[in-house]
Amino acid sequence: MTRAQAHPFFSGIFGPDQHVFMASGGGGTFKAVQRLVQRVGTDHLTLLFCDTLIEHRDCYKLLALTAFTAFDRQGSNSAAHILTLIDALPEYHEDPARRAQQLEEIRQAMALAVPQLVWLADGRDPWTLFFERKFLGNSRVDLCSKELKRDVADRWLKANRDPAVTTVYLGMDWTEEHRFIEAQARYARTGYRCEAPLCEAPFLPADWKVDLYSELLALGIAVELYRLGFPHNNCGGFCIKAGQAFFALLLRTRPAVYAFHEAKEKAIRLILGDVSILKDRRGGVTRTLTLEAFRLRLEAGGGFDKTDFGSCGCMGESPDEPTGDVPLDMIYGDGSVQPLLVR
Ligand code: SF4
Repeated sequence: MTRAQAHPFFSGIFGPDQHVFMASGGGGTFKAVQRLVQRVGTDHLTLLFCDTLIEHRDCYKLLALTAFTAFDRQGSNSAAHILTLIDALPEYHEDPARRAQQLEEIRQAMALAVPQLVWLADGRDPWTLFFERKFLGNSRVDLCSKELKRDVADRWLKANRDPAVTTVYLGMDWTEEHRFIEAQARYARTGYRCEAPLCEAPFLPADWKVDLYSELLALGIAVELYRLGFPHNNCGGFCIKAGQAFFALLLRTRPAVYAFHEAKEKAIRLILGDVSILKDRRGGVTRTLTLEAFRLRLEAGGGFDKTDFGSCGCMGESPDEPTGDVPLDMIYGDGSVQPLLVR
């Protein structure tokens, strides 16, 4: 219950309840928005998307489909035009500059077609951010999702929606309830109520994502990352929080994308020293494991941790995420430690 509902005398002062869905362009968003529209309608519904600029084009396509379906624009000329623009988008690793320009055109077309979709972009992608901040994000400190997603969304919320009447919604399902609880606590600190429609009854089957690819295919979208077996549709099959099994899948199914991130990691190591996205935990000791070394190991027939998919939860903060200006130690492969100021 919002504060306005709790105090009906003041409801006219606070205004109507507002509903803001944090859209990701994944299957959870698609399903949860369907459920939310049935529950609250669309009059005061906003979909808020924060773009990391390295999303797979199918992510943008699913985001567009979710918005067209929610706000009854499917089949319109503008919807067809936007889907054509998205189809023509180059992959991030092919031409980041041209892609950024074309994304801007898509964002503008989308704002006209579905103004209820607020599509924001910080302007930096994760690698630009890592080089700029001289820090390689990792599973403990996901600088990319913090600065490119959570902070951008928080600024918009603060400027545009009164917490007294606003509920924030997330696309996590009940199997990810721990992440939802973390995110809910984070929103509670800023005064916003937070819900996750897929964490509520009627509960989806635990394996609902198995059928998702076919369901989306029937709607005209063949989400490549789902077809290839990726657990999420974020950042084009890359994630700074991902583990060995995830990157093995990326190498096998999208080698050009893997090569791009391998080159970026190599470049940032020239500046930062012995840091890496992956960790080698063999023998009970944790060491850095570069994407290059990992690829060479797999190409030589070596094994990897098949259970280590890692996790990506951009809207829930990392367990060690600092708040405010506090020093955070960055641990290097040789065991040395360098303090970093995270704002
Ligand atoms: S999906 Fe991973 S790499 Fe992309 S913004 Fe989220 S944490 Fe960062």
